[in-house]
Amino acid sequence: MTSYDVLIVGGGHGGAQAAIALRQQGFAGSLAIVGAEPYPPYERPPLSKDYLAGEKAFERLLIRPLAFWAERQVELILGQPVVAINPAAKLVTLEDETQLGYGTLIWAAGGKAKRLSCEGFERVHTIRDRADVDRLLAELPEVKRVAVIGGGYIGLEAAAVLTKLGRKVTLLEALDRVLARVAGEPISRFYEAEHRAHGVDVRTGTGMDSIVAEGVRLADGEVVPADLIVAGIGIDTAIGPLAEAGAETGNGVHVDAFCRTSLDEIYAIGDCAAHENRFAGGARIRLESVQNANDQANLVAKAIMGTPEPYAATPWFWSNQYDLKLQTVGLCQGYDDLVVRGDPAARSFSAIYLKGGRVIALDCVNAVKDYVQGRKLVEAGLTPDKVMLADTAVPLKELLPS
Ligand SMILES: Cc1cc2nc3c(=O)[nH]c(=O)nc-3n(C[C@H](O)[C@H](O)[C@H](O)COP(=O)(O)OP(=O)(O)OC[C@H]3O[C@@H](n4cnc5c(N)ncnc54)[C@H](O)[C@@H]3O)c2cc1C
Repeated sequence: MTSYDVLIVGGGHGGAQAAIALRQQGFAGSLAIVGAEPYPPYERPPLSKDYLAGEKAFERLLIRPLAFWAERQVELILGQPVVAINPAAKLVTLEDETQLGYGTLIWAAGGKAKRLSCEGFERVHTIRDRADVDRLLAELPEVKRVAVIGGGYIGLEAAAVLTKLGRKVTLLEALDRVLARVAGEPISRFYEAEHRAHGVDVRTGTGMDSIVAEGVRLADGEVVPADLIVAGIGIDTAIGPLAEAGAETGNGVHVDAFCRTSLDEIYAIGDCAAHENRFAGGARIRLESVQNANDQANLVAKAIMGTPEPYAATPWFWSNQYDLKLQTVGLCQGYDDLVVRGDPAARSFSAIYLKGGRVIALDCVNAVKDYVQGRKLVEAGLTPDKVMLADTAVPLKELLPS
């Protein structure tokens, strides 16, 4: 049986970065990444942006060129999901029944796109990995009308790209506004207006009943015609083998400040890792972002190299829709006040979220300076004057203590 000093499960952002960071930090032991997908590690965000738009070839999505992994002696075992873990014997079993031993295991398996459970769900597309998008693109030439179910970032990005590709898009959101779980109302209303201005039929507060031959049947019986249906309704974390091996789980696999699971010598990072986050007031949360996957990967590499540091990275995220770049820093959940800085009509503005007077997050639309300077307000947990925050004549950096 082959054994590795460090075995990484999942060749996405977290898994790739863990291997890169280990080698950068001088780890000289044997190292392998086992990935369920048949491709070397690639970037996921372009799947709902330039890759879907046909503007970026898959080769340009690769996190590192293929030769990098061989040069760094990182073995890639691809197209093979881990189906079981035996933490006592320190080995994993792959789908083809191969067993691999490990000294330390890093679980970076992310999640699978949630599927609808209603009648007709089989023909609904999701966007989580390359194969999903390739399937969708293969159907697209025959498609005139698209229904996108879910007004989160992925649904909105897909709606923007498909509109740009000349399809008539209807966006269906069950809640009363898009981005309701992740952003304040001014951001939601701005994006709804932008999508409508580009020709998307945005329908909020719209429940659906089932998928029928003609399209999507809504709760009130109306059928929204669609040749292609895409759902962006979140993920189910890929933690089955960890849970079966006895790891503490809830909404994801529980990890401590060093990304250690409750199982000996098993770390978990990225989308599947439920950690206590200081930007969420210490609440146990999962973050679905490249930042979180990369920063947790770097941290686990440090822990393995004997220089552990607790996780305290500042959350950040971005979303591209049409010519709009949204950049988010901090976490806005639980905010009790909101300042709009700039004029949404000018298509460059920021929503600044406050809790007890402290700046906890910013959503910056085409406002890079606010994002860069506002980050420091969030990190320092400052309580600037609201009038000054709203005044675009005052750079945010001037609100920092000198
Ligand atoms: C369409 C899309 C757009 C996005 N846009 C943005 C964005 O603009 N900005 C941003 O910050 N974030 C974005 N994200 C989120 C970001 O891509 C994720 O947060 C990030 O990829 C998480 O990294 P990860 O390593 O935890 O998981 P992943 O990157 O999902 O990697 C997990 C890998 O593990 C594999 N795997 C699963 N189970 C097993 C198993 N049992 N054995 C072996 N391998 C397994 C999976 O197949 C996958 O390849 C986007 C995500 C998607 C899907």
